[in-house]
Amino acid sequence: MNILGAGQCGTLLATMLAQHVSRIDLYERGLDPRRGMASAGRSINLALAARGIRALEAAKVMPRVRPLLVPMRGRMVHKLDGSTEYLPYGQRDDELIFSVSRGQLNQVLLDAAEDHSNVQVHFQHEVTSFDPASGVARVRDHAADREVEVGGPALIAADGAGSVVRNACARTGLIAATEARLQHGYKELTIPAAADGGFQLDSGALHIWPRGEFMLIALPNPGGDFTLTLFLPNEGEQSFATLKTEQAVEAFFESNFADAAALIPNLCSSLISNPLGLLGTVRCQRWHDGGKLLLIGDAAHAVVPFHGQGMNLAFEDCVLLEQILRETGQHWQQVFERYESIQLTNANAIADMALENYVEMRDTVRDPKFALQKQLSFELERRLPNRFIPRYSMVMFHAEIPYRVAKDRGTLQQALLERLTRDADRLDQIDLDAATAIVCAELTPI
Ligand SMILES: Cc1cc2nc3c(=O)[nH]c(=O)nc-3n(C[C@H](O)[C@H](O)[C@H](O)COP(=O)(O)OP(=O)(O)OC[C@H]3O[C@@H](n4cnc5c(N)ncnc54)[C@H](O)[C@@H]3O)c2cc1C
Repeated sequence: MNILGAGQCGTLLATMLAQHVSRIDLYERGLDPRRGMASAGRSINLALAARGIRALEAAKVMPRVRPLLVPMRGRMVHKLDGSTEYLPYGQRDDELIFSVSRGQLNQVLLDAAEDHSNVQVHFQHEVTSFDPASGVARVRDHAADREVEVGGPALIAADGAGSVVRNACARTGLIAATEARLQHGYKELTIPAAADGGFQLDSGALHIWPRGEFMLIALPNPGGDFTLTLFLPNEGEQSFATLKTEQAVEAFFESNFADAAALIPNLCSSLISNPLGLLGTVRCQRWHDGGKLLLIGDAAHAVVPFHGQGMNLAFEDCVLLEQILRETGQHWQQVFERYESIQLTNANAIADMALENYVEMRDTVRDPKFALQKQLSFELERRLPNRFIPRYSMVMFHAEIPYRVAKDRGTLQQALLERLTRDADRLDQIDLDAATAIVCAELTPI
């Protein structure tokens, strides 16, 4: 079997399928990251949640990943006046998410894949084109300066959001796909560890500076530093287009993120020189072509990062595909069909929720009603754990609840929360017994 792309999805998939398939070859355009340096301004750390953890456990990789993780139990909201408010993500001890460096995680995943003697990773092998009619990709072996042809049966394209394979299929009409570019981009910055090696902000939280149309976030790293990401419109009055000079960057940070600015060395030069990342949502009408080809991970369904779920979803893809393969055997058309029939609606659901979460993170989180509705939803979950689970918790902590259920259920629950908090500013102004009765009457068990 051939897999194109040895990112998070391709490597985990190879590890999980190695027990079922006699040989797996992974073709990756990049150099082996275990032998080189990450490029500046592209460090990215990711939030790992229940769905990702379930996959890493199933692949028996979790013991190697655990030392890389920094737990985060809630959001620390940094207000404009410099004050902070902590909003827990969940209410049980095990309801937490983890910050992990993308680069370190990828290295562990490569090691895990290569532990299988029937898996081989070919670095510096770039897919340059794909012929949908024959199902064959042309791959440039940069080290040997030659071209090879890579095909099926069951070719799997895990070549990321800009997938050459998906684009070729879309051009010929084999797979209808849309790419909706967000008008906002992102740049990364760093808050280094303190002189004693400790964290300069609370390491147990994901920090957010919500400012309405834009926001800054910070995730902790095991070394005591934080990776910050500034999400901002690409064009307009307050945008990356206007942050081109040191004076402009200084003034922008001074009026919006003064407390963070004080902790970022070389803020202006870093912001100006670091690369601008683009964001978007990829949706396909289908992901497979008979048993010949399957798109998976970001290649099939890139989502914006505001629910911290793109990688978690890609890992969930691997769990599902392995499960179906185990049950069905190598009847690839059947495997791909069944996989797509389950996961396509889930991917569309989390794509929608991720877009909604951007508004929540940069804006709604500042509304006192948001905190009240959070409190009420925790109270209802305590009273009726089988009937009311906050949507965020369903997505992040309940790997067994499909994304599409979380989305549909979340819509019903949000309407209820708005009704129940309409005339209240505090939890003690709400008749909780009456609210419980309403939930019992209107919501079926999950
Ligand atoms: C700013 C940001 C923050 C994010 N935060 C989170 C988060 O907190 N939590 C979360 O779950 N997700 C997050 N994500 C999403 C997550 O990074 C992706 O969903 C995940 O990496 C997808 O994995 P993948 O293997 O499908 O794609 P990728 O990781 O992109 O891997 C694709 C691989 O294919 C290779 N490749 C590409 N083109 C070719 C080619 N032509 N030939 C050969 N190889 C090729 C690439 O080099 C790469 O190794 C974030 C994304 C961004 C941009």
